[in-house]
Amino acid sequence: MINIVIFGAPGAGKGTQATLLAEKYDFLHISTGDLLRQEVRLQTPIGLRAKAIMDRGDLVGDDIVVQLLHRALQQRSTLPNPDAQEDPWDVARKGPSHRPEGCIIDGFPRTVQQAQTLEFVTRRLKRNIDLIIAIDVPRDELIRRIHERAAISGRSDDTEEVIRHRLDLYDRQTQPVLDYYRLSGRLTTIDGSGEISQTNNRICRVIDRALRS
Ligand code: ADP
Repeated sequence: MINIVIFGAPGAGKGTQATLLAEKYDFLHISTGDLLRQEVRLQTPIGLRAKAIMDRGDLVGDDIVVQLLHRALQQRSTLPNPDAQEDPWDVARKGPSHRPEGCIIDGFPRTVQQAQTLEFVTRRLKRNIDLIIAIDVPRDELIRRIHERAAISGRSDDTEEVIRHRLDLYDRQTQPVLDYYRLSGRLTTIDGSGEISQTNNRICRVIDRALRS
């Protein structure tokens, strides 16, 4: 049982990596961006409120995002019920036949306040965020990748102006979250400038080490 936050600027590949890791380790993958896009698609009250904000590249309000995160965490006993009889940490350690379950969160937290909220929620469930993996990619490469993705994604927030705004917001609001986590000693930064498989191998090494310890 391990709970991981995957962190990176728009275009760093955190969604791609989180999907690969969820598959390999049987993690629950929670992407706040995907959850929001689903609400928009379904035209729910949340989706209707979020759409214009996302199209501008701004951050959706914490009330909405925290609500979606909470709902997603409850889907499976990934952050387990503290009253449960069997401790999932023990189950995970019983041997190779037991695949470690866990959770990988992508897109949250994006502000120091969201990081504090995440601490609060997990502490209430008597669990921790065990690892924070930051994927580091130079700015030029981020812009190149988002342009490439824009051609196929059809995402309404992948336009030139909005991309720059999202990157600026990342620098101003999300980068400080890394300092917050660095102080707690749980942060590992990975070079994400190469191929998807190279980055994936680097991340898997970090996770395997954490699962062994
Ligand atoms: P990217 O990392 O490429 O910007 P995401 O899919 O993670 O893409 O997020 C897309 C948009 O969804 C963000 O620009 C923002 O508007 C909204 N969003 C996602 N996660 C959060 C969050 N934790 N807090 C506020 N807004 C969020």
